[in-house]
Amino acid sequence: MTKVPEAKDAYIGRFAPSPSGPLHFGSLVAAVASYLDARSHQGSWLLRIDDLDPARESSTAPAEIVDQLLQHGLVWDGDILFQSSRLANYQQARKQLTADNRLYPCTCSRKDTPRIYAGHCLTNSLQDLSQPHAIRFHIKEPKLEIHDRLLGPIKWRQQLDMGDFIVLRKDGLNAYQLAVVVDDIYQGITDVLRGADLIHSTPLQLSLFKALNGTPPRYCHVPVVLAADGRKLSKQAFAETVSSKSAVDNIRNALDFLGQKHTKGHSVNELLESATRSWNVQAVPPLRGISEKT
Ligand code: GLU
Ligand code: ZN
Repeated sequence: MTKVPEAKDAYIGRFAPSPSGPLHFGSLVAAVASYLDARSHQGSWLLRIDDLDPARESSTAPAEIVDQLLQHGLVWDGDILFQSSRLANYQQARKQLTADNRLYPCTCSRKDTPRIYAGHCLTNSLQDLSQPHAIRFHIKEPKLEIHDRLLGPIKWRQQLDMGDFIVLRKDGLNAYQLAVVVDDIYQGITDVLRGADLIHSTPLQLSLFKALNGTPPRYCHVPVVLAADGRKLSKQAFAETVSSKSAVDNIRNALDFLGQKHTKGHSVNELLESATRSWNVQAVPPLRGISEKT
């Protein structure tokens, strides 16, 4: 059984990797940041595996990620939640959004779709559709804003910075935003700490939280680790898997990257315990690439 946090938990954080491969240094940094923030608030820290897209995933990645986290002392609370076990819940959420008139079928091809979708199919009806189609969510809010704990106030405007987005793909797979929000609500997540590369998802997720009557979490977007060529480290860019053999060094490097003090601990647990005590989110440099490290 998955632990469903109780209302008395004041802080519930999570690490939610998509299992496209084992963790690289960038994903370890995100895990360490969300772990330390949760633990320093005496909060829970949950592990969710966002496994929605089998074609982009590796069947061995979940076990590898679990092993890497444990070897790095990053121990989560409760059972792991797999998104692949939650498909009925996403369908239920789509039902609710359909009843509220927030979904419409979109027949646009991917290549004709601009990054910010201008609502081309907004007037399509869910009834009369024979062509293959995706299902899009309509953002009603003219603007959305957050106060990011690290980046401060951020505002998005309808049609300029955000547009309607897909919740069910043409191939029938659930798209990522709806699943994330349905599960964040289910798990009672109060705080999301994640890489700043995900910031474009924030207004989309915020709009879904409102539409599903959920309470949006506090957000904190930490800098993304960049490769020497300035690009984001990603599994696609063949970023090196973090080796559990150098777990102590990896944690130290992650703490350095996050601008955190650490002691000369000899084990990952010593390092994480002292870093939890001294965790200061404001010390995280808002923009920095690993390439700047000497
Ligand atoms: N699963 C997402 C990722 O791998 C993170 C979930 C979210 O915070 O939106 O990047
Ligand atoms: Zn369309």
